[in-house]
Amino acid sequence: MRIILLGPPGVGKGTQGVRLCERLGIPHIATGDLLRFAVKWQTEIGNRAKRYMDAGELVPDEIVLELLRTRLSQPDALDGFVLDGFPRNPAQADALGEILDELGHKLNGVVSLEVPDDEIVERLSARASCPTCGRTFTIKGGEPEVCDVDGERLFQRDDDRPEVIRKRLQVFHQQTSPLVEYYEKQGLLVRVNGVGDVDEIQARMLEAVPG
Ligand code: AMP
Repeated sequence: MRIILLGPPGVGKGTQGVRLCERLGIPHIATGDLLRFAVKWQTEIGNRAKRYMDAGELVPDEIVLELLRTRLSQPDALDGFVLDGFPRNPAQADALGEILDELGHKLNGVVSLEVPDDEIVERLSARASCPTCGRTFTIKGGEPEVCDVDGERLFQRDDDRPEVIRKRLQVFHQQTSPLVEYYEKQGLLVRVNGVGDVDEIQARMLEAVPG
């Protein structure tokens, strides 16, 4: 099963994507995570990508494509994957099509997770991430800010600050949302309402992904 999760930052692609992958037994491949690891370890790619990420802009296609091509050729990704955060523009979508053609693979579906912008800004401003496993949590007043799984202290991503969030949303509407139509034309798109309880949304996603 090869699925793309499409949607603005903070819509729940990470949370829902990880759960969907556990259910389907395929890897969750998030270009944002790959890039954050590259930045953390100060690799050449990470050093080139950092300033774009800090500004809430897209990292140039050739950098992201290099990371993605390598990841998609790893053995665990050959039988399927859920892609989260890629493609982010039509040129990336074309490039993904070419990589899949080379590997002799086809996409099964594209899930567009949808939530109003106001709710996104609210969610992201309250979001904290685990430095070890990458899981994200909504911080409510008075709760200890540690990861349920690792017990690690959570941190707020640099790009989850309100001014960067607004920039990321603007970039989404300008560059990424045209992909909804792109995949609709290919007959691959399903829309899923991303408002509600995590379990409820997961149930909608499972219903939406092709059988
Ligand atoms: P995310 O975790 O998906 O919100 O991504 C965090 C940041 O990484 C984005 O704001 C971009 O700067 C960068 N990024 C992630 N995926 C891509 C991509 N497919 N193309 C370009 N930049 C990306």
